[in-house]
Amino acid sequence: MTGLAVEQDAVPGGDPGPPAGAVTALQATLDELETLSRFATGSAPERAEAAAEAARALGRPDLEQRARLVRADLQRRRGAVAEAGRTASEVHRWASETRDRYLLARSSFVLTAVLQEVGDLAGALEHAVSSIDLLDETALPALRIDHLVRLADVLGLARDPAAPERYTAVLRLAEELGDVDRQLRILNNRAYTDTLAGRFDDALVYSERLQQLARAHGRPLDVGDLDTVARALMGADRLVEAEAALRLGLAPEVLDTSSDGDAGADFLLTLAEVQRRRGEVDRAQDTLAECVRRCDLHGLTSIRVRARAEQAELHAARGDHRAAFEEHKRYVAELVELQSAQREARARALQAVYETTEARRQSRRWRELSLRDPLTGLYNRRYVDEELPRLLADGTGRVWVALLDLDHFKRVNDTCSHAVGDEVLRAVATLLQETAAPGGAGSFAARLGGEEFLLVLPGVDAGAAAAHLEAVRRAVAAHPWDGLTHGLPVTVSVGAASTAEVPDRTPAQLLGLADARLYHAKRAGRDRVVVDG
Ligand code: GH3
Ligand code: MG
Ligand code: MG
Repeated sequence: MTGLAVEQDAVPGGDPGPPAGAVTALQATLDELETLSRFATGSAPERAEAAAEAARALGRPDLEQRARLVRADLQRRRGAVAEAGRTASEVHRWASETRDRYLLARSSFVLTAVLQEVGDLAGALEHAVSSIDLLDETALPALRIDHLVRLADVLGLARDPAAPERYTAVLRLAEELGDVDRQLRILNNRAYTDTLAGRFDDALVYSERLQQLARAHGRPLDVGDLDTVARALMGADRLVEAEAALRLGLAPEVLDTSSDGDAGADFLLTLAEVQRRRGEVDRAQDTLAECVRRCDLHGLTSIRVRARAEQAELHAARGDHRAAFEEHKRYVAELVELQSAQREARARALQAVYETTEARRQSRRWRELSLRDPLTGLYNRRYVDEELPRLLADGTGRVWVALLDLDHFKRVNDTCSHAVGDEVLRAVATLLQETAAPGGAGSFAARLGGEEFLLVLPGVDAGAAAAHLEAVRRAVAAHPWDGLTHGLPVTVSVGAASTAEVPDRTPAQLLGLADARLYHAKRAGRDRVVVDG
């Protein structure tokens, strides 16, 4: 498809030479593959494949993921968008798990293009921004430029007014780097997005600069560039010049080396339109016939449908309104069909991108939910059953556990209501979490059931544990319950024990001792903490 020029699968400016070490050599290859520039084609997919294999052999999963992303981006350009999206999200997940910033940036870069292609510009924008934020100073300048261009492209396609200044800034970087290929790409993309936004004056300025720069460096313009130039000229009604520009693309060495993936069909369609608008109906018809031939040969459905609209215009230009009407009907019918096929393709590609993240989020969410008490949001007994044995088995540091039971809670339910009782339980849970625990890492609060709670405090001594539990008791007693319970006080009794006091570090021994002390606290009059005896 013409329009935005993408980085081309280019190749090596030469053999990297004898490697200092296998890893260093592989890294250099990947740097090069990641920053391929225009005007070269070739063995990039095979090289990326070989790099992935070499990385596996060297036991470097990070380098393997880099190679996979290069391949995914190449696949996307050949039209395998869903496949590319799946690979890129897998790498993205790997990178988040291993906290690999570079690979997060690179996978976001590929995801930007995937989402852009399936029409999710909001998602694309998000990934474009993080693909830049996550790069650090050590990133290659050419690679940084590519990431910045992709952001400008997303903004440009969204007709965002911020796009032009983005292009200006990244163009300056490419100029400073002396990278002509990237300057050409930026100028093309800027001019193309200007035509989309109807800024034809700007489009002309930048397409002019595109042509000058290409001339100055003896670089041929490809059909995508020529299409942009022609669209800018058409926007200014300069049809003769538009056709002249497009003519350059008719040379077989230009047209048939189109790397846009559409075999020049889109370009030919633009040419047919220019010729028709100039009144050259026969030439336009020949051009359109060639466009249609290429569409049929390469299965380019979307351009084929647009060619019908142009055919209807051509019939009308000849005065054959009956044929124009028939062709227009076919155009509308096929457009509807195409749009529903595109919607399905989009849905499939989006699905491929999101299913991995979504599946992971779902399972994490389910697991998290299954370990929580729905009323208070505290951990539940299942969590305690999983976590406490692990904590006790893990090392020899002292662990305190405390059982907390609300006093005369039945009265709250009976005097007020069960709903008020629930509110009280929720408020107590909040107080438990808000009263800062000493020690820190590994401490947690849980609701064991009913009006009984558990606090686990690893790594604290007896003094700190007693002080904390006393603070919790006071916080509950001092809470302004009146509004909720109409005068009924809410207090809590606490029994606690530590691993230093039991023969084995088992949950049963520890909880048994804490429970015995809770009983003493109740017997001694409630609203108190018992940590020994
Ligand atoms: P004590 O000081 O001896 O602990 O007296 P108590 O009334 O708190 O003890 P008891 O075990 O007799 O009563 C606990 C009450 O907690 C009984 C039950 O109605 C209530 N309860 C248990 N689970 C819930 C709940 O989820 N919501 C509400 N509102 N009440 C609950
Ligand atoms: Mg109880
Ligand atoms: Mg109770």
